[in-house]
Amino acid sequence: MRFLEDISVQYVKGVGPARKKLFVRLGIESVEDLLYFFPRRYQDRRNLTPIAQVKVGEWQTVSGKILAKVSRRSWYTKKHVSQMTMDDASGRISCIWFNQPYLDRYFVEGKRVVCYGKIDIYKNQLQMVSPEYEILEGEEDESLNLKRIVPIYPLTRGVTQRYLRKTIKASLEKYKDQLREELPVALRNKHHLSNIKRSIGNIHFPESFEDQENALSRISFEEFYFFQISIILRRLSITQKKGIDHKITDASALRFINAFGFELTGAQRQVIREIRADMQSGSPMLRLLQGDVGSGKTLVALFGCVMAFENGHQACVMAPTEILARQHYENIKKMIADGAFKDMKAALFVSGIKKTEKDELYAKIENGEIDLVVGTHALINEEVSFKSLSFAVIDEQHKFGVRQRALLAEKGNNPDVLIMTATPIPRTLCITLYGDLDISIIDEMPPGRGDVKTYLYSHEQDGEVYELIRKKVAEGQQVYVIYPIIEESEKLDLKAAKEMFKHFESKEFEDLSIGLIHGQMKQKESREVMDRFKDKKIDILVATTVVEVGVDVPNANVMVIEHAERFGLAQLHQLRGRIGRGEVDGLCVLVAEAQTSESNDRLKAILSTTNGFEIAQHDLEIRGPGRFFGRHQHGLNELKVANPLTQLDILELARKEAIALTEDDPKLAKESNRYISDIIKKRYPTYLKDVKAG
Ligand code: ADP
Ligand code: MG
Repeated sequence: MRFLEDISVQYVKGVGPARKKLFVRLGIESVEDLLYFFPRRYQDRRNLTPIAQVKVGEWQTVSGKILAKVSRRSWYTKKHVSQMTMDDASGRISCIWFNQPYLDRYFVEGKRVVCYGKIDIYKNQLQMVSPEYEILEGEEDESLNLKRIVPIYPLTRGVTQRYLRKTIKASLEKYKDQLREELPVALRNKHHLSNIKRSIGNIHFPESFEDQENALSRISFEEFYFFQISIILRRLSITQKKGIDHKITDASALRFINAFGFELTGAQRQVIREIRADMQSGSPMLRLLQGDVGSGKTLVALFGCVMAFENGHQACVMAPTEILARQHYENIKKMIADGAFKDMKAALFVSGIKKTEKDELYAKIENGEIDLVVGTHALINEEVSFKSLSFAVIDEQHKFGVRQRALLAEKGNNPDVLIMTATPIPRTLCITLYGDLDISIIDEMPPGRGDVKTYLYSHEQDGEVYELIRKKVAEGQQVYVIYPIIEESEKLDLKAAKEMFKHFESKEFEDLSIGLIHGQMKQKESREVMDRFKDKKIDILVATTVVEVGVDVPNANVMVIEHAERFGLAQLHQLRGRIGRGEVDGLCVLVAEAQTSESNDRLKAILSTTNGFEIAQHDLEIRGPGRFFGRHQHGLNELKVANPLTQLDILELARKEAIALTEDDPKLAKESNRYISDIIKKRYPTYLKDVKAG
């Protein structure tokens, strides 16, 4: 019997070599990929509401026969309008779409159609604007797409929901029995988890939402279970490795602590103690340092770098973007000067620097002339080799994965690794997700920082907001104005950075100096803009979320966030963290209209506190359990299906079982556990690489 991962999707009924390409675009190569291609959500089409009984204002699914279709050009907006009217014997409803002329051909009178959208009334008639639509052909189609809970998949051009459902159904019928059961039967019995065949079937075509939820829980449990085992094994292997034991005397630690013109906070001292103990111990440190923006993490990281240097080794700091790397470099150079760590030499390594300069750097890093390298992932991508790297700092955990972490550590001989993040993660979640890391928290801001006051304005109050901006600029402050998108688009009715920049520059604030920064600019351009902003040559910086992480301009103390309802809570917190970094109180203006109760909750939370951990907790609560979210939300690329934010209870259960297993058999050496070790090797090869070495 062949494994499903070895059977190409092209052999599934209805696919073939040409259509295979469409699947590849969706990330599906094998039959296994196809069976694990999960719906984004579901639509309940079991009891469709007759058109005569639909409720205006609600989102509903209706189905009927196509009665008529017309197309026209709107005299007002000049858009192409396609209109289709359907009839289900109880009543009629018309559906309209804008600028999709191909729809005129798609709808054929007499065919059965299903639409999902918000029910409106227009000129006394029922109407849906831009609903989702599907045309059904024949009986077979109806059994799969109607009168049941219907899966809705992510699509790509050329693939329809109907086609995917049909193909997945066909592959289930033919290959379901070949799905491998990897979860131990004892665990399945203990926690009442169904077998894999049933679960995969119920993920795609559940008969009830309860079945679907059970299936998802089971599959998530499995994923969490093996992931937790891999984390625990990794942790064990790291603590068993021989690290570098730095000698740190009380005198040199004290000298560092007293080197700056200010007192370190209690939290900073505590974390320094923790890092010192790790650096002195014989096994490598792997520590996650959490703390709000501006809480003084970089200074704490510098402690480790200086101690590495004093022990005759090297250190490096890796940041997620070139802007951040440069900023860290400037900060760190200043701290080195302030602290009078005289002989310590720092250098910046990013892909943007000149070839000759780079070659020189390579040599100096390799022969040990440079003690501290600050850079981007260019540090791991390019063949930089250190003479003796003993302390590595990674800023912004979420932008890097476990793989990069491991790659950086490989540049040295089991160096101590400190990972810094300004994205607070609630404690419970942190322990389960980063169980392979020790955790330090800075929960205290340096004294003398201004507060940030946050206010909510509506879009109608633009005039007042602009007035406020003007007043602040007159007081000598600089202002960020953040937009959710770079350019205006047809689909979204939102203000955009580019257009607003033009508007400000040529009209609203023509007497002031305006800058623009967004993610599609060249590194060099954005660097110039940031430099001009830092040098106070720009009064108002129009930006997208590129300023989210780490950017540090103490004189910029005012931030206006337009369409604030569009941003996630963590994102708003990060953005707001850009201001209030000087002594003056910061001012954050949210211009927003809550669209949903969820966006309303988010706005309430951000208005109520500036504490990152409280915000993270709110975030968890607002999202609530049992919902689907994009994978990027929890920042763990290792998990495909399971979501730690919404399935914490399952995660904890799986972790308990993983701990029990590894306590009983830490090397997975027992005959009965061998296959688990094989699964881990296959699923988490980067974790294993380390485990083997250990
Ligand atoms: P983070 O990395 O957490 O965002 P930084 O380490 O960059 O924070 O610190 C932000 C600013 O505060 C820096 O200019 C730093 O010199 C300063 N700073 C750090 N610790 C203290 C302290 N204990 N007292 C006063 N200022 C501090
Ligand atoms: Mg920082």
